Amino acid sequence: MTDQTSRRGLLKTVAVTGVAAAAAPAFAQAGGQRGGPGTPVPTSDPQTKYQKEPFPEQRQKWPALQRNMTPVPDCGEASYRGSGRLAGRKALVTGGDSGIGRAAVIAFAREGADVAINYFPTEEPDAQDVARLLRGEGHKIVLIPGDLTEQRFCVDLPGRAHRELGGLDILVNNAAYQQSKESIDEISFEQFDRTMKTNLYAMFYITKTAIPLMKPGAAIINTASVNSFTPEKEILDYATTKGGIAIFTKGLAKQLAKRGIRVNAVAPGPIWTPLQVAGGQLPGEMNKFGQETPLGRAGQPAELAPLYVMLASGELSYTDGSVFGANGGTGAV
Ligand code: NAD
Ligand code: MG
Repeated sequence: MTDQTSRRGLLKTVAVTGVAAAAAPAFAQAGGQRGGPGTPVPTSDPQTKYQKEPFPEQRQKWPALQRNMTPVPDCGEASYRGSGRLAGRKALVTGGDSGIGRAAVIAFAREGADVAINYFPTEEPDAQDVARLLRGEGHKIVLIPGDLTEQRFCVDLPGRAHRELGGLDILVNNAAYQQSKESIDEISFEQFDRTMKTNLYAMFYITKTAIPLMKPGAAIINTASVNSFTPEKEILDYATTKGGIAIFTKGLAKQLAKRGIRVNAVAPGPIWTPLQVAGGQLPGEMNKFGQETPLGRAGQPAELAPLYVMLASGELSYTDGSVFGANGGTGAV
């Protein structure tokens, strides 16, 4: 076995068994941090870089644990290499225990940031997995569990992160609630309320209380969606919030430019995360997930992490009030 094939084998295994990576910091660190400037990065075909085959049907009780998914999503545990882009920054990421938020957390930490992660209390095992991995590599990770549907918790969250990290330069509003329902007849008032509270109200409360703690050069990144622009009919309430998040991003950027704070959003297409197995897809539909994109597969959270890093970093200093897609070629954003 050559070094190259053994590394390929290693990455393939880790892509499927992220838990192992999360549970074995030394192993993951070797994979994630290997090489330095000048180390060649292999070119890979985006069609086949990750699993192309449909995902097996599966369902977990909300909010679902990433460690119990088949296959386990790849959040860059073994692959993301940092290069000091966020050295010394302090970041708060909601929904950072799993999926896209976890990919951002891993990338931020390996780029040199200290990171506070918020998540729903029952997601403690996923949060511990990512904290163990990154702390094992010497990064500062602060865990702040709590329910974002509670106004009091949201309002206190930025201050807690600021206190525990010693500052706040990056805010990623990433947590969301999504339940697929065939028709508006099936969307209960309770579901609608929870979707609005989690996706819009929490973003507003957190952002409003974070801004006074931020200095010029800080960045706010919201997770929007392809549904911000073209709603899928099964997620009417969710898509409504995602449209709101895109508009909030653009409008807030106009206000905060004068304070030197940039606001942008990432708009993912179909990405393999716990959200999808906790009611995000209609029963029996998992085998279609991501298959209709031009790249012919769902995305993995790791494929979005560099977008969050670049939007957080001061390098994109003229990029403000914009929404960036990652959707497998659909051209939705
Ligand atoms: P995910 O399940 O890993 O992340 C969602 C997170 O939201 C959860 O981990 C949880 O911590 C948090 N959350 C939800 N309700 C909460 C509450 N009441 N209190 C505290 N935390 C709460 O799934 P993901 O797909 O990585 O989602 C991250 C973001 O990406 C979301 O904004 C989602 O809308 C967006 N997105 C995902 C996809 C996709 O296909 N997966 C596509 C477009 C947009
Ligand atoms: Mg989660």
